[in-house]
Amino acid sequence: MTLLRSWVDSANSSETPFPLNNLPYGAYIPAGEQTPRCCVAIGDQLFDAAAAEADGLINIDGLLLAAASDWNAMMQHGPDVWAAFRARLTVILSEGSADQATAEKYLHPLAGARLAMPITVAEYTDFYAGRHHATNVGTMFRGAENALPPNWLHIPIGYNGRASSVVVSGTDIRRPWGQLKGPNDDAPRWGPSQRFDIELEMGAIVGQPSNGAITVDQADANIFGYVLLNDWSARDIQAWEYQPLGPFQAKATATSISPWIVSKTALEPFRCDTPAREIELLPHLRDTGPMLYDIPLSVTLNGKTIVQTNYNELYYSAAQQLAHHTTSGCPMRVGDLLGSGTISGPERDNRGSLLELSWGGKEPLETPSGPRSYIEDGDTLALHGAAQGDGYQIGFGDCVGTLLPALDDPFKG
Ligand code: MN
Repeated sequence: MTLLRSWVDSANSSETPFPLNNLPYGAYIPAGEQTPRCCVAIGDQLFDAAAAEADGLINIDGLLLAAASDWNAMMQHGPDVWAAFRARLTVILSEGSADQATAEKYLHPLAGARLAMPITVAEYTDFYAGRHHATNVGTMFRGAENALPPNWLHIPIGYNGRASSVVVSGTDIRRPWGQLKGPNDDAPRWGPSQRFDIELEMGAIVGQPSNGAITVDQADANIFGYVLLNDWSARDIQAWEYQPLGPFQAKATATSISPWIVSKTALEPFRCDTPAREIELLPHLRDTGPMLYDIPLSVTLNGKTIVQTNYNELYYSAAQQLAHHTTSGCPMRVGDLLGSGTISGPERDNRGSLLELSWGGKEPLETPSGPRSYIEDGDTLALHGAAQGDGYQIGFGDCVGTLLPALDDPFKG
């Protein structure tokens, strides 16, 4: 696959995250309006797909983008409509398109655009599928001998999170209060989290419903696309609460996603295999083809890179996670969001959380903003990711959040 050329000049640069090959799905709020509208990114512009459809430039049976404030309804229509919509957009925006003169009026500069949640998150599940991350955290919490729990190599471990806490990139994050683990386990104290952290993850968006167990292949077919995801985590709340049922309030403050959903189709050239299996998976979870993606990822703290890793470091693909999620008969809904788990690699600068980077605060990270064991008030954390094609990139837009200081004690008269 090489660069598909567009009459939108900025989309033909090898530097843009949004060439015609990408066409990621987002939502923007036009100046002076309240309701988000469905759009796609092309070069340094957004293309108002809802307006283009309302005027008849896009005409796909049953699709009513103009009536929607996000992409859930479009996803509901299924893969044939996804493909027809993408094909039509590609024709409209291709170099030499007969539609150029009509389509130009639906372009608006991305710079300064107010972006909104691209979907309504139906439900949110977060997994723990990065082996380096699980090994690092397990070593810190339970010792090297017990780092990986005995189930880890057999199932993608996860917990049910809160859809209500998922926010779009650019949303400020407020340092939470909570019960914090004290020097000994029976004496917690109430206070603002002192160990607030990031988790570098990708999120898979479920685009088709299921009711009952589905295969890994079916799960892959049901995934609509992917986002960058930051699972903000209060480690001192987590350390106190996590046994025996897993994280709860530590993960409930906020989870940020990138403003753009990159379709599975755009990522197709970057498919790759999961790592070698130490123990063969049971048949229903076995790999049936390349279902991970080669996507270099990084994190910046106040503009300085602190992490570099790759989505292909995960042990389980999103398709395996989704298939596992359904084994109990759990129904899945359009708009379900599956967090991958923190994506760390083998080296120190591949670690996708400050918990790992500072090794539980024992080895603070040196940054131009000063040493960091965890996030300080005012810090801006940004996740970046772009698959590298032949002369083009497939990017997600940054997933950014700034940590605001804790409010006053909510329970103090
Ligand atoms: Mn997580």
